[in-house]
Amino acid sequence: MRKPALSFLCSAIALSTATALAQNDDASAAASAAGCGICGSFFLFFFLAIVALNIAILVWVARDAKARGLDNGVLWMLLVLFTGIVGLIVYLLARPQGNLIVCPNCGNKRMQAAVKCPSCGA
Ligand SMILES: [Zn+2]
Repeated sequence: MRKPALSFLCSAIALSTATALAQNDDASAAASAAGCGICGSFFLFFFLAIVALNIAILVWVARDAKARGLDNGVLWMLLVLFTGIVGLIVYLLARPQGNLIVCPNCGNKRMQAAVKCPSCGA
């Protein structure tokens, strides 16, 4: 939804750059347009990277909460979704502290101090 504005901005920059460099110089206009295409894909890549990072953090919070035996892992995930880095810090401070080990029974992570595995109950 932000792409039309961005490409308009890019065209405006490309146009003014081309005009400034040389009048009706096709080579420099093409070079500016190519440079703008790279700048546009960089912003798109940056945006996608942030989205991917957010999803990765949400998945990690949900898995970490489950491994620590929290029933409200989905609530923590929603908190981090809506409050971002603040919610993540709150979760890191509020979650049960302790080492996570791999459960020998089911292979999922569980708290070292937990009596029962939250995944398989062993
Ligand atoms: Zn288990």
